[in-house]
Amino acid sequence: MSTIEGKVIIITGASSGIGEATAKKFAREGGKVVLAARREDRLQTLKEAIEQEGGEAVIKVTDVTSYSEVEELAEFAIDTYGQIDVMFNNAGLMPLSFMDKLKIDEWDRMVDVNVKGVLYGIAAVLPHMQERNSGHIITTSSVAGHNVFPSGTVYSGTKFAARIFMEGLSKELAQTNIKTTSISPGVVQTELASFITDPDIKPRFEDPNIPSLTSEDVANAVYYAASQPDGVAVNEIIVRPTNQG
Ligand code: NDP
Repeated sequence: MSTIEGKVIIITGASSGIGEATAKKFAREGGKVVLAARREDRLQTLKEAIEQEGGEAVIKVTDVTSYSEVEELAEFAIDTYGQIDVMFNNAGLMPLSFMDKLKIDEWDRMVDVNVKGVLYGIAAVLPHMQERNSGHIITTSSVAGHNVFPSGTVYSGTKFAARIFMEGLSKELAQTNIKTTSISPGVVQTELASFITDPDIKPRFEDPNIPSLTSEDVANAVYYAASQPDGVAVNEIIVRPTNQG
């Protein structure tokens, strides 16, 4: 039996890309997935696809920039399934631009989703996990959470923050059975780059020949971390295309 069988997993950013692929992977392995994002139609389509394969999923429209909505998401998961075993803070934005373009609105949105959204995800599940002395918080950071590159300065800052939240929390929770993991993917073929508005950056990410992973490759890494037995914590995974420089 899979160690994920019967476990309850909340996934933010489940409406596309890495979140969607992870939801399918966990559902195939017998997990009960709680799908969260803003686009209800995409969540509904995913739920139906999972159910057609015999899996179990529910949806909750959630904007992770609202703490009350993230709190309601956690309450919904507990009301529906009785517990939360894994919180996957995966929702994120990457509108890359050089800092001197002063795209303040995009900086705000990245901080709100990639930083505050992760903190809200932690806050919404931590008391429940502490009460049970069990649980796993997984957050999607990035290779940009390890190294900064021109045009990625603000994005990198948010991804460093996301990774450090996992590392610090793991130290604070060392006396408990609660685990944390950062997943740091390299380039993954998803919709993420489609929101870049800086014309100096956009073409670089539209090149179909850039070595890239699939969302399923990253889902496998998330699954690896989540499926370890009690007592084994995989705190950090970097997963990159073999040919990414
Ligand atoms: P996608 O654009 O496919 O997915 C992003 C997801 O985030 C969508 O489901 C979107 O759903 C959700 N989202 C965005 N804003 C909000 C919000 N305010 N509230 C709730 N959900 C939100 O890209 P990826 O799958 O690639 O991105 C997933 C994560 O992976 C991100 O954190 C990204 O930074 C990270 N990452 C991606 C890499 C890549 O190369 N693709 C590399 C390294 C890390 P909706 O719009 O429906 O709300």
